[in-house]
Amino acid sequence: MITNSFGSDVLTSRALDIAATRIFAGIVDGVVLTDENRRIIYTNKATDQMFGYGEDGLIGLSTSTLYEDSNEFAVQGAKRFNPDGPAEHKTYITRYKRKDGTVFDGETTGGPIHEPDTGRVLYLGIVRDVTTRLSAESVLNELHRVTSDRSLDFEARRREILRLGCRHFGLPIGIVSNIDGDRYEVVDAIHPEDAIPAGATFALGETYCCHTLAADEPTGFHHAGRSEIRDHPCYQGFQLESYLGSPITVDGELYGTLNFSSPAPTRPFNRQDLELIGLFAQWLGHELAREADLQALQAAQLLLRRAATTDELTGLANRRLLGDRLQAERQRMNRYDGTFAVALVDFDHFKKLNDHYGHAAGDAALVEFAAIAKKLLRAVDTAGRWGGEEFLILLPNTALEGALTIAQRVANRVHANPLEVGGERIELSVSIGVAISDGNESVEAVIARADAALYNAKADGRNCVRYLSSDDTGNRTDKKEQRGQTTSP
Ligand code: GH3
Ligand code: MG
Ligand code: MG
Repeated sequence: MITNSFGSDVLTSRALDIAATRIFAGIVDGVVLTDENRRIIYTNKATDQMFGYGEDGLIGLSTSTLYEDSNEFAVQGAKRFNPDGPAEHKTYITRYKRKDGTVFDGETTGGPIHEPDTGRVLYLGIVRDVTTRLSAESVLNELHRVTSDRSLDFEARRREILRLGCRHFGLPIGIVSNIDGDRYEVVDAIHPEDAIPAGATFALGETYCCHTLAADEPTGFHHAGRSEIRDHPCYQGFQLESYLGSPITVDGELYGTLNFSSPAPTRPFNRQDLELIGLFAQWLGHELAREADLQALQAAQLLLRRAATTDELTGLANRRLLGDRLQAERQRMNRYDGTFAVALVDFDHFKKLNDHYGHAAGDAALVEFAAIAKKLLRAVDTAGRWGGEEFLILLPNTALEGALTIAQRVANRVHANPLEVGGERIELSVSIGVAISDGNESVEAVIARADAALYNAKADGRNCVRYLSSDDTGNRTDKKEQRGQTTSP
């Protein structure tokens, strides 16, 4: 059987001539024909270029010259380049060596061809240089590995992208920049001597990236000193011979650039290099958009959480947050020695204030109270709006004496701070009921005691602080006993 590679069932030297000149000459794959001893009798132009030999420079040589590993010559000989080799020539990849000693991955189809008339055996090999394809495949696999690694945060993955690009493009400097007007700021950089710190800024017009932005697509200079930018300030200033950069856009808006560079010239960049850096930049853009969304979401969540625990008018804790803090403190004091204090504060004759000066004046008094509470209380204390014109102050890990002192200070301060409405000064006052607890009772029980003490303060003429101990029955009418436990302004 004759090979069907030529679409003919007879291969004569005439047919070979025709095939060689008309078909093989023009194709991009390298075609090699050898005699039965695997000595080269024909190569097309693509082969001569691929292996770095001049025209017909390979004629007469053994194909063993072409292999990086001489053992591979024997292996392929045993497998297919022998008279009994397979008629169906399967594709395989092997490492070839150029004349200058450099190597490349060649995707090869090859095997024996039998001349029917003479019974003579020839060998045919068709070689395609797939080095760039294989390295693109491997860099894409790496990109996938980095971008899908959930154990890395965004910044770590951005750094991995920079490393990957430096390695793949063979350029030692990698930068992610942020561009704002004419300001070029380094966001992250890899440099062999760490010479480019994050935060460093440059005038955009003096950077290589201004050419990338002008082109609005991935752009490369593999030998800047011999390119059209050799007189540009970027080359004059940085003296980098090779540069490959891509714009980064976030939601359609320019963010900055991803770029790799080297003081040394490099091989010319090809379409695949430009496509790859474009892909890296695209991924960074998507991640940046996601980061921005995430931050907006977190800010919204923070606002929501704050709204859920804050009183809108005064900015103090709301009843819900107070409830949580009270429970936490009760449990803490239950576990450890010590007491906490609760002070219930209620404005005196607040209805009158509203009625005479308007609801806005009442509101202003409540806001004023919040300012006083924030000023007088410790960071560990919580003052919150319990409802209407009533506030609750939680004093963690506080004994009676301290609690009464603070409560009295609050009452005094409110009284000393008249509200100014339309040039008029309106005197304000609050009544405060204090209770102390060691945590061996419910929060409700402590608050009920503070409430009863507050009732007593109102009954005692307002603008004062009253305390009710847990020994007290809470009988609000038994004023004599309670008066013994009170302070007055
Ligand atoms: P007392 O000295 O006995 O506490 O008298 P009071 O007038 O303060 O007590 P009362 O409970 O009768 O009235 C409370 C008033 O507080 C009634 C209500 O309209 C008013 N109030 C409750 N919440 C607000 C608020 O957010 N803003 C304003 N301006 N007024 C409020
Ligand atoms: Mg009141
Ligand atoms: Mg009230």
